[in-house]
Amino acid sequence: MLELHPAFKATLEQNLLNYISTRGGESLNLAQILTRGTAIDGGLFVPEKWPSVSQTQLSKLLTGEYTEIAGRVLELFGADSLATNSITDVVSKAMQAFPQPVGPPVTQLKKGLWTLELMHGPTLAFKDFALAPLAEIIASTLMHENRQATVLCATSGDTGAATVSAFANRDNLRAVVLFPEGGVSEFQRKQMTTTGADNVLTLCVKGDFDACQHMVKALYQTDAAKAYGYTAVNSINLVRILLQTAYYFRTSGLIKSKTGNASNFVVPTGNFGNVYAAYIAKQMGAPINRLIVTSNDNDVLPRLFESSIMQGNTTVKTISPSMDIQVSSNFERLLWHIKNGDGSAVQAAQQSLETNSRYTLSETEMQSLTTDFQALRCTESEANSAMQHMQNKFNKTICPHTATGVHAYLTLGDDSEAETIIVETAHPAKFSEAVAKATGITPTVPSHASQLMESQEVMHSVDANIQAVQATIDDFFS
Ligand SMILES: *Cc1c(COP(=O)(O)O)cnc(C)c1O
Repeated sequence: MLELHPAFKATLEQNLLNYISTRGGESLNLAQILTRGTAIDGGLFVPEKWPSVSQTQLSKLLTGEYTEIAGRVLELFGADSLATNSITDVVSKAMQAFPQPVGPPVTQLKKGLWTLELMHGPTLAFKDFALAPLAEIIASTLMHENRQATVLCATSGDTGAATVSAFANRDNLRAVVLFPEGGVSEFQRKQMTTTGADNVLTLCVKGDFDACQHMVKALYQTDAAKAYGYTAVNSINLVRILLQTAYYFRTSGLIKSKTGNASNFVVPTGNFGNVYAAYIAKQMGAPINRLIVTSNDNDVLPRLFESSIMQGNTTVKTISPSMDIQVSSNFERLLWHIKNGDGSAVQAAQQSLETNSRYTLSETEMQSLTTDFQALRCTESEANSAMQHMQNKFNKTICPHTATGVHAYLTLGDDSEAETIIVETAHPAKFSEAVAKATGITPTVPSHASQLMESQEVMHSVDANIQAVQATIDDFFS
């Protein structure tokens, strides 16, 4: 059994954290939010404060294997409340499915420039780092509590694949995955439809990702939610984000020890979960300078940075479908921070987003936002050039999502004060058509991810309304 470092045990008592809704209501512990989606008031759970971290603890968060660091992070955030065995053991079990269980490779491309390769997991996207351990944690607590649950997940492709892989064929658990018709790559769709697991229902929704996400949020508020034990594993699930925080600690620690410098992370962004994980690590003392958010033509965040106005647009389909999002759910968490924890101010802003399709940030709020973040968009032709650049200059094949990050780096140039780390969010083989078109190279699917794909696809087509979705769920599991 993996033991927790004494430096962590000693201070756990002081770290009994509460989680509150970004809109002001509820106060729960980590176990209570593990299987919860949104709070009752529609907000997202955030830790009331950041756990206090001593220098000794910080140094232990910045070195070691992914599993140990993830265990330490979860301990700091209140894993004691979870009805599981050692949290580190549980995470460790999940990591066995990864080709590099020690953690994602951090590769130097040239002086000042690195990539963080998050795309080697079982389904070839960074989502595996959160979902594989999350599934193990949920399964373990359900077993201890003798409960059942149904995981609901709206996906633009990669979350669905990672969810299906992580939850297929588990006792006590069912999974329902909603993806937008025509909005995922063939590879992603097959990952979701070929497991043959009878505890997994894959729904092809006649609508876009935002419609899928909206329905998942709405399903939690229905009568069926209790009967099925609906559980969120979208990036609105905070435990998932905490698991991602671990690789930002590890990577920035590694870079600091090798170069003496802090890290700027360039994060291809959709729902703002991955980059929010980096923000948490920074707030807790990781040597991180700036967080650079990149988007494709669905540029809701770059437009916010330019105009101070948060305003969604119609989602357009791009070659980076996992970022085809106009409602960045997790941004509400950052909004809570930049509004200094004022739940009613967040409530008002989100209300305005619902009714007027927009809210505006004040000058002070924009200042607070741009202290840590900047945002850049990347068009399809810029993404193609970025893929070509990486191929020609570094002989490295990247996916179209990562390409938006490379484009941002090419636009901004080197930072004299920090190392730049481009986060590789998916394997190019998941998007081989777009990659081949840009570079002339057809990426090879790694062997650990190529099984299943030949099996028969099973999915159900459904209209974008919650009655239709619930009826299909009832039918499938009856
Ligand atoms: C999910 C995903 C993103 C966006 O991440 P968020 O946490 O939603 O911001 C980017 N790239 C890939 C490949 C993804 O799967």
